[in-house]
Amino acid sequence: MEEIDITIIGAGVIGLAIASELAKESRAVYVLERYNTFGQETSSRNSEVIHAGIYYTHNTLKAKTCVEGNNLLYELCEKNKIPYKKTGKLIVATNGNEVIKLEELKKRGDENGARDLKLLSQSEVMKLEPNIQAKGALFSPTTGVLDSHSLMKYCISKTKENGGEVVYNSNVVGLDKKVNGYKVTISEGNGDYFSFMSKIVINSAGLGSDKIAEMVGIDIKKQDYELKFCKGDYFSVGHGKSHLLEHLIYPVPNGDTCPPSVRPALTRRRGRQVGLGIHVTLDIGGRLKLGPDDYYISRMSECASGTDKGNLDYSVDESKKKEFYESVKDFLPFIEKDDLSPDMSGIRPKLQGQHEDFKDFVIKDEEDIGFPGFINLIGIESPGLTSSISIAKLVKNLAEKYIN
Ligand SMILES: Cc1cc2nc3c(=O)[nH]c(=O)nc-3n(C[C@H](O)[C@H](O)[C@H](O)COP(=O)(O)OP(=O)(O)OC[C@H]3O[C@@H](n4cnc5c(N)ncnc54)[C@H](O)[C@@H]3O)c2cc1C
Repeated sequence: MEEIDITIIGAGVIGLAIASELAKESRAVYVLERYNTFGQETSSRNSEVIHAGIYYTHNTLKAKTCVEGNNLLYELCEKNKIPYKKTGKLIVATNGNEVIKLEELKKRGDENGARDLKLLSQSEVMKLEPNIQAKGALFSPTTGVLDSHSLMKYCISKTKENGGEVVYNSNVVGLDKKVNGYKVTISEGNGDYFSFMSKIVINSAGLGSDKIAEMVGIDIKKQDYELKFCKGDYFSVGHGKSHLLEHLIYPVPNGDTCPPSVRPALTRRRGRQVGLGIHVTLDIGGRLKLGPDDYYISRMSECASGTDKGNLDYSVDESKKKEFYESVKDFLPFIEKDDLSPDMSGIRPKLQGQHEDFKDFVIKDEEDIGFPGFINLIGIESPGLTSSISIAKLVKNLAEKYIN
């Protein structure tokens, strides 16, 4: 049976960033992807924001990799001509209570190492963004946006230059632990199956990562690795209003961004907000969008098997227009309901259930539970894109214990 050094499951931004760090001529590194191209799931369904690291609980992987990843990503983009824009971001307070919350947020961000955060008065906010309404804001000058597709393309070319491969139409359907590594079985989509041995397996399968862990024999209930899917929808803002803003504008998180009267579905969150609140994103081309919101959805049977290609519902319900409008009208007075049109959506692979507290990324060599060289990346939701290069360096350290 053919034997390789490193198998990376999933050609999203995480798997590709890891491959670009680990590939070198003397090593056989393969990225396996079930679709016929890269970045078909979460990595191309997000806000493309390079976060500063303000919100996350101190000393967690989310906080540390975000702050480090922010720096690394700007450096990488600059050096390799990957399109990005350091737009800066304002978290805006619309009342006195929220102004107090901004101070707490600044404290947390400073503790995490988010750079150059500054509290702004109402008049300072008006100078930066004359078209919004706010009593004050927290300004993060190091927040920005990037072209995530170009980032993934760059990671693929770096991987290939160094002898690695990205293999599409390769759905991982079997993983067996053997004495000298792991037997990996893939379905090639045409009824053919193929197996090989890999010294190291890196599970960066995004929405399918808990199922991959289960496939090798890990008790995902016991390890608390079961993912919950949390969808986020976006609405685009039309009628030529994109030029009215220059920064990313966010509400204060955990303030109820939409009144209960406009929160219809049972599946919608109740109480605890698990995203950052419906906010304004400006993509690299300056296109204005609102979103994402956050609501848990049930997992499709196709995905639950972990073996088939996903069949996820990415549609955006137009009737939510009112909810989006209500969420932002206090700080974006120029927006009218009819400016909004359903846009894209994405699905967060969350470890945190609907009524649970913060849960960190899982990035771990599973040696202690009997799977040496099996490296799990589970629950890589936001700020996964920002953290990608930092995560890749972390995983490189874990993997290089097993190979030269
Ligand atoms: C709405 C939304 C907004 C977000 N906004 C931001 C943001 O602004 N900034 C930020 O930093 N982060 C953001 N994120 C988070 C970020 O998008 C993710 O953390 C990141 O894209 C995760 O990348 P990934 O490679 O782990 O997953 P994915 O991109 O989902 O890649 C996993 C890959 O694994 C493949 N796969 C799964 N199972 C198998 C199998 N059995 N065999 C072979 N292949 C398999 C899938 O097909 C997929 O291509 C956001 C996420 C969402 C949902």
